[in-house]
Amino acid sequence: MVRINNIRIMELLEPDFFGGVLNHNLAVVERGPSGGLMLIDTGLPGYLETIEEYLKSWGFSIEDVSDVVVTHWHHDHAGNASEIRKLSGAKVYAHYLETSYLLDPPTYQISYAEVTERLKVPEEDFKRTMRRINDLKYDPVIVDVTLRGGEDLAGFKVIHVPGHTPGHIALYNGEDLVVGDAMRGIGGEPTPPLEFFSWDYELSLASFRKLSSIPAKVIVPFHGEVIQKW
Ligand SMILES: [Zn+2]
Ligand SMILES: [Zn+2]
Repeated sequence: MVRINNIRIMELLEPDFFGGVLNHNLAVVERGPSGGLMLIDTGLPGYLETIEEYLKSWGFSIEDVSDVVVTHWHHDHAGNASEIRKLSGAKVYAHYLETSYLLDPPTYQISYAEVTERLKVPEEDFKRTMRRINDLKYDPVIVDVTLRGGEDLAGFKVIHVPGHTPGHIALYNGEDLVVGDAMRGIGGEPTPPLEFFSWDYELSLASFRKLSSIPAKVIVPFHGEVIQKW
């Protein structure tokens, strides 16, 4: 666990992601708009127990979560949002352009050719990963508070950064920038999203540039390493 400023990070690991291991950084802010914990993104379906263990190790339980922000509809971000909402009564926040995907997530249409342009992966591993991610299911996520960008959530400003998905959002409190998949932290460097997982890659690059221009001290990407600038 890393704790930076007011953000705690729980790192979950997704094995067998195109032949490698993909990490997921769930950010937890101690005081959300409703007074309890604010969880930013929720991990893959099936990881609820790991989330509960992390919370317990910090002296909290799932009932202490009062606000859940979902940066976008992808399964590694929205996978436990519905269950956490049911267990804790937390409010769920997402951009209005994500709400229909969150209720009925589509399958991922990705070809081997697109992937091998970016990643060296044997076809076997590609097929196994695609089967696995397209078998993932999460309970429909009901969004309690729809966002457009510009709102304030416990001192974090909501920034609409479309491209990876239509309604992707990031959060910034003047120091800490939580970016979801709009930026990756590969080797500790800000890196644009993966092209083959992005809805509109050109738009995602424009959003990446917008986020890069923000004078944040800490950037928390969902995948890769937390980026600290001194
Ligand atoms: Zn994503
Ligand atoms: Zn992701």
